[in-house]
Amino acid sequence: MNSAEISTTCPYCGVGCGVLAKAAAGGEASVRGDPDHPANRGKLCSKGSALGETTSLDSRLLHPEIGGKQADWDTALDLVARRFSDAIAEHGPDSVAFYISGQLLTEDYYVANKLMKGFIGSANIDTNSRLCMASSVAGHRRAFGEDIVPGIYEDFNEADLIVLTGSNTAWCHPILYQRMLAARQARGTKIVVIDPRRTATADECDLHLALDPGTDVLLFNGLLAHLARVGAVDDDYVVAHTTGFDAAVALAQADAPSEEQVAEGCGLKSGDIRLFYELFAATERTVTVYSQGVNQSAHGTDKVNAIINCHLATARIGKLGAGPFSVTGQPNAMGGREVGGLANQLAAHMNFDNPRDIDRVGRFWRSPDIARRAGLKAVDMFRAAGAGRIKALWIMGTNPAVSMPDATRVRAALKACDFVAVSDVTRTDTTRFADVLLPAAAWGEKDGTVTNSERRLSRQRPFLAMPGEARPDWRIICDAAARMGFGAAFDFGNPAAIFREHAALSAFENTGERLFDLGALTDISDAEYDTFEPRHWPVTKKASGRLLGGGKFPTADGRARFIAVRQEGVALAVSAEYPLALNTGRLRDQWHTMTRTGPVPRLMANTPEPMVDLNPLDAAANRLADGDLAQLSTRYGFARAKVRITEAQRPGQAFVPMHWSAHFAANAGAGALATPIADPQSGQPELKNVPLRISREEIA
Ligand code: SF4
Repeated sequence: MNSAEISTTCPYCGVGCGVLAKAAAGGEASVRGDPDHPANRGKLCSKGSALGETTSLDSRLLHPEIGGKQADWDTALDLVARRFSDAIAEHGPDSVAFYISGQLLTEDYYVANKLMKGFIGSANIDTNSRLCMASSVAGHRRAFGEDIVPGIYEDFNEADLIVLTGSNTAWCHPILYQRMLAARQARGTKIVVIDPRRTATADECDLHLALDPGTDVLLFNGLLAHLARVGAVDDDYVVAHTTGFDAAVALAQADAPSEEQVAEGCGLKSGDIRLFYELFAATERTVTVYSQGVNQSAHGTDKVNAIINCHLATARIGKLGAGPFSVTGQPNAMGGREVGGLANQLAAHMNFDNPRDIDRVGRFWRSPDIARRAGLKAVDMFRAAGAGRIKALWIMGTNPAVSMPDATRVRAALKACDFVAVSDVTRTDTTRFADVLLPAAAWGEKDGTVTNSERRLSRQRPFLAMPGEARPDWRIICDAAARMGFGAAFDFGNPAAIFREHAALSAFENTGERLFDLGALTDISDAEYDTFEPRHWPVTKKASGRLLGGGKFPTADGRARFIAVRQEGVALAVSAEYPLALNTGRLRDQWHTMTRTGPVPRLMANTPEPMVDLNPLDAAANRLADGDLAQLSTRYGFARAKVRITEAQRPGQAFVPMHWSAHFAANAGAGALATPIADPQSGQPELKNVPLRISREEIA
């Protein structure tokens, strides 16, 4: 379509790297890192540099389908609208749901959220980002009053200490990791890795704390108690800008009275703990990065707040080279948060727990019947579908049949649900359950914006023609909304029009109480939107960049809140029947359920088969040799994988990548093994610790 090189954004992880791309022969694309994009300055990781090989997939959906047979768009959309309208009329608005994705662009997300919350009148819209960063959102709101990542990527270059907790940055956010290594080279930055596994990130660090699963709160409570003990607390800051310090410190001291007790509770050496605590106490420029290892936990929100407490105590928030820093897994998890893609959010960082917010959003949208309370979060949504309470479900750009925990039950729920629509780019394990399939535009064809982990908005721009009858997600959603009788509110001519409305809502009656504000972009023209350069939010007349550094927080009293948290036990403990603790995570070269990266031979070369990592002691105890095919079972399900014996895995623990699905190997999905037990604050499921049994599979 476009042989000129255009500037766009990588669709994989939350680093949000800039990509220069152009169409190449055979539907492929040629790509290179954008030297002018501030997130990556021309660099791309293995996945990003293979993007050009993912644009001509054989498995692309080309036409709408009804009941597995090709249909035209009008018939398919009429059916979706009718089944949703009928369910709402007969059973009420809470009988329908959308399950969407951090792969969607902000404009797609915005109209999906507006349709469900503003016009259908239910908040049953949740996103696969629930599995990625919901605990960080909840932790930020508890501490700061709003979902704010205070720092920016430049802080990684300027820090003297980087603490990576629950983050295999070298594989999962490789370009950020390169910044950290550059800082190490340039200024001697120390890197501490807190992770039960010896990952590629831990291989390169100054100190690796391979703590027992689920003991992060104890470790950071011990740090808070240490800071108080050695006089490293910034008392002036705490008094002037925070509340709750005394209670948080008292609980931390009770939880973690000494380094020896922390060491015993976390399964670490007390000398290593002391080293970490002394390093943290002495280093003003400290960034603590946290990701899925913290978030994907039955106590994820408490873990986030235990980390933030230590930064509040030392006044290291929103300052050059200092702050707590949540990095997101998906390219637009942050954009989804901005428009209310989570069932417990409204839009533009407004919330259901504030009646004024509900009123404000309802008036802005001229909603006939705006939702007034939070909807079903992901795990509960699929439970409700399985129990017959959700009559019509629309899944957009995600593959819950593989990626959700307790995936066998999720598949049963999809089968039981009266009506399932799926819009996606390719066939997946989930599309098998669709009554109606809607072919969506893919990366290279889509047009809109994404926001990366440092709050930087970037454009995704199209340079390829949509194949067959594929359409952009925003268009599909608006067309369905019109058929449901809401056409006037969804009469958007292009993504720029949606973005303008999104920006206007963020500024609507915002007298400064919310930091998320795109007010200066409310009147952005189509031409300006086309040439929009990456920039951080807020986008107002004031400068943007780091946030919260001045000590003023978007809470009622303007102060940050210490949250008193205590170490809780793991949700599920190992037992004689299930003696190993199973951890799940990502591989360097794969993305999600491999729908895009799996068909690329060079990305498959490194780990071509599903595998389970085991310590030599556990392999011997289970009479397993390297390369054996093993049966894995938990109380939730079953999977198969090849054994890989490695000292990187601590005794008593096992690791399985999250990626495999039935498309690439039978019975290999980690989701089937994982528990749906979720954090009570955030609703984020525990994907890092489930008791496992393993045995050799005899091949007949
Ligand atoms: Fe894409 Fe993330 Fe790699 Fe950057 S680091 S190229 S955003 S996958």
